[in-house]
Amino acid sequence: MPAGLIVVDHPVLADRLAVLRDRETSHGAFRRALADASAILAIESARDLPSVDTSVQTPLEQTTARRLGGDVAIVPVLRAGLGMVDGFLRLLPDARVGHLGMYRDEVALEPVDYYERLPPGLADSHVFVVDPMLATGGSAVHALDRLKHVGARELRLICLVCAPEGVAAVAAAHPDVAIWTAALDRELDERGYIRPGLGDAGDRVFGTPAPDPG
Ligand code: URA
Repeated sequence: MPAGLIVVDHPVLADRLAVLRDRETSHGAFRRALADASAILAIESARDLPSVDTSVQTPLEQTTARRLGGDVAIVPVLRAGLGMVDGFLRLLPDARVGHLGMYRDEVALEPVDYYERLPPGLADSHVFVVDPMLATGGSAVHALDRLKHVGARELRLICLVCAPEGVAAVAAAHPDVAIWTAALDRELDERGYIRPGLGDAGDRVFGTPAPDPG
């Protein structure tokens, strides 16, 4: 397994991934399964978040407890990353949410920013970048570049499915950023789809037509 990649092995996550891979899954069921899978990935990737000691009064007595401490920000890479936000917010309801939109210039083959709205003060936040598919890694590397540019230091990347090429690209550009995923798939095909993959995640989340990957 490549260093810095954590493949989460959990039967409930594997079940949701099977639903997501199935071409017969409707976009409503796809969205629900992606939210569930994202919540499981949120739990796993939040394992080392700091917590603070406190005390609470139960109905019976005072007891010690621990609450999450520190600022958390979730940053979906538009558009497909939006499908992971609800699952993360289920577990981390006080997180702030930033948005990064980019598309790939097909001539220059470089990501081009079209939207950026980030919470201030990310230097002191635990930042979870979410994007369901880590394919070439171009968008993820660019998103991490942008976040470091505004001062973020504590970054992690959460992708439902990864291609080896994307993992290698992130590891080369951002060796300090760990990646959590449900699956490391076989390869990228000539059109940039992850195989076996699940098709175009954005189209499947939003119910927009996708070309048949053949
Ligand atoms: N983006 C997707 O949505 N799917 C892929 O297979 C690759 C990139």
